[in-house]
Amino acid sequence: MKFFDSLISETDGVISALQKKTFPKSNIWHDDGQNQVIMRRDTAFELEGTGFNLITAYNTADEIVVIGDDLDAIRDDRRFARIAVVQIDDVEDEQKAYNLIKKIDYVKYHTFPEGYMMRSTSRSHKEAVRVSKKAVKDGVDFQKIGSLMIEKYKENPAVKGVRMIFITAPEADYSSIEKLAEKAYSITEALNHIMNNLKFDCDTCNLKVICDEVEGMKELHFRTSAE
Ligand code: SF4
Repeated sequence: MKFFDSLISETDGVISALQKKTFPKSNIWHDDGQNQVIMRRDTAFELEGTGFNLITAYNTADEIVVIGDDLDAIRDDRRFARIAVVQIDDVEDEQKAYNLIKKIDYVKYHTFPEGYMMRSTSRSHKEAVRVSKKAVKDGVDFQKIGSLMIEKYKENPAVKGVRMIFITAPEADYSSIEKLAEKAYSITEALNHIMNNLKFDCDTCNLKVICDEVEGMKELHFRTSAE
């Protein structure tokens, strides 16, 4: 599974010049177990931006990287990004790998940190978060939220390590991050196209741009279409 590896390198490039704090996984924040609604009057601030996963077979240690202010230091609404670099077993079977990518994507819909309301849609990389005043008072921070999310990703035994990157720094290049998220989404869409045995005809396919760029996509589709 190396389809997302070049995006991981690009992500590292986009954040390389920014100041980072790195934390181990620890102190897991409480999960409510179900959808919660935080009213505007109970909200400390909102984060609005991008959230996406990059799946790899490369060794990835569990850690939380924070770029910019942590949740306890934010006073007003901010732009934001959350990137999860997720190491999985190096599965040979592409169908299994694709199924894993989809399952890993569902984690964000099954994680309900108390006082940290995440909103995203299945066909988008947009992510918005509403943080409650109570959660801030109770000491919420990205290390605890990231630790909970790592725990959730690792409920899937194929997940071996997760690096959670949270970005709130105003100087971060959010438009480049958004482009990386769009590419990650397009790669998943192309895999969906390939795995559903749709016609192998790159000249008429709207995913040609991404398949031209990502090594191995066309070969994979050629192989699966011949089976
Ligand atoms: S390999 Fe060609 S046909 Fe298959 S998804 Fe990519 S562009 Fe489309």
